[in-house]
Amino acid sequence: MLDRLAPQAPDALLALIKMHRDDPRTDKIDLGVGVYRTGQGDTPVFAAIKAAERRLVDEQDSKSYLGPEGDMGFVEALMPYVFGEANPTMGGRIEGMQTPGGTGAVRLATALAKAAGVTRVHMGTPSWPNHAQILADLDLEVAGFSHACPDGTADLDAVLSAIRGAGEGEAVLLHGCCHNPTGIDYTPEQWDAIAAALAESRALPIVDVAYQGLGHGMEEDAYGLRAVLAAVPEALVAYSCDKNFGLYRDRVGAFYVMAAEGGQLPAILSNAAALARANWSMPPDHGAAAVRLILRDPDLTAQWLDELDTMRTRMRQVRDRLAGAGTAGSVDLTPLGIQNGLFSVLPLSKDQIAALREDHAIYMAGSGRINVAGLTEANIDKFIRALAEVTA
Ligand code: PMP
Repeated sequence: MLDRLAPQAPDALLALIKMHRDDPRTDKIDLGVGVYRTGQGDTPVFAAIKAAERRLVDEQDSKSYLGPEGDMGFVEALMPYVFGEANPTMGGRIEGMQTPGGTGAVRLATALAKAAGVTRVHMGTPSWPNHAQILADLDLEVAGFSHACPDGTADLDAVLSAIRGAGEGEAVLLHGCCHNPTGIDYTPEQWDAIAAALAESRALPIVDVAYQGLGHGMEEDAYGLRAVLAAVPEALVAYSCDKNFGLYRDRVGAFYVMAAEGGQLPAILSNAAALARANWSMPPDHGAAAVRLILRDPDLTAQWLDELDTMRTRMRQVRDRLAGAGTAGSVDLTPLGIQNGLFSVLPLSKDQIAALREDHAIYMAGSGRINVAGLTEANIDKFIRALAEVTA
C-alpha cells in the first residue's frame, strides 16, 4: 500500500543547505538558510537565553505534561510586546496559546479559520513557501495578489483591491513586518489604509508576525498588526519567537485570537485546543519557558532587547552597504536599503543563480531570495563583484 506514495520533491531550501555544506570551497557564501548570522558568520544562542536556560535547569522542578495551550505564562508575558503595553488584551478580547513555532501558529490560525467557515485565503505573493503548503494541506483555496512593485516597494493597490474583493467566508493573510521573502514592509500610512479597508470588509484578517524587532524595533514593527486590530472586530495572529530570540530549533511560537467580544473567547479557544490536541497534543516546553523567564525579569529583558538591537543594527549596516553600492551589473541594489529584516529578493534568472553557485560558491534560494545576514565584512565585496559578473 505504501508503494502508492509518489516521491515528493525535497524542500528546496533544505536541499540547498546540504549542497552548501558539501561544497569544499573555503570562500563559499550561504545566503539561503533563513537564520541570523553575526559579522563572523555564526548563529549563536542569545546570552539572555543561555542565562534563562541555566535558571531553568536549576529551578524547573517537573517536566510533567501541560495542556494543549502550553506555557500560558509565556503566552501572556509576550502580549504587551505584541499588542502594546497600554492594552495588551484589547479590553479582554485577546487570548492565546503556545504553538510549536510560528509554523504551528500559522497552521492553527488557518485550521481554525477553516473550522469557522473560511474557504478561501487571499495572500500576497511571493510569500513564505510554507504558507501555500499549509493552505493546500487544509484544502483552502488560495487567491494570490501581487505583493511587490517592480521598484521594490509594496503594491498597496493590489492588497487593497484584494481586501475589497474579499467577502464572507474569506480570510486575508498578511505578514506583520519584515516580509518573507521580499523584505518589503507597508508604511504606517499604508497600514492605516489596509486597516480601514479591512474594517469595511467581511473578511477575516490573519496576521503572521515572524520577525518582530528585526525591522525597525519591537514597537515600530508592531504598528501594522496593532492598526489592523484596532480597526476590525476579530482577527487571528500567528507569532514566532524563533528569530527574535534565536530559538529556531526549539520551536517557540504563539497563536492569538481577538474576538468581537471577550465572552466568545472560551468557545473559540476550545476549538483551537482541540485542533492543537489533534495535531501535536502540546507544544515543546523548553524554549517558551526560557522566553517567559526573560520577559518576567527586567535585567534579562534588557539584555535580550540589547542583543536584538545588535542584530537589527548589523542587518541595517549590510543593507546600507548594498544599497550604497548602487548597482551590480544589471541588479539595482538600492531597494535593499529601504527593505527590512533578513530577506530581499534579487531579480536574477535561474541561470544567474546557478552561475553564482557554480562559479562563485554563492548559495541562494531559487526565487532569488537572499538572507542579508549571510553577508559580512569578509564576503560582501566578493558578493557584489560576483553579482556584477553574472549579470553583466
Ligand atoms: N511565517 C513566516 C513569514 C516565516 O518566514 C517563518 C519562518 N521562516 C514562519 C512563519 C515560521 O517560523 P518558525 O520557524 O517559528 O516556525
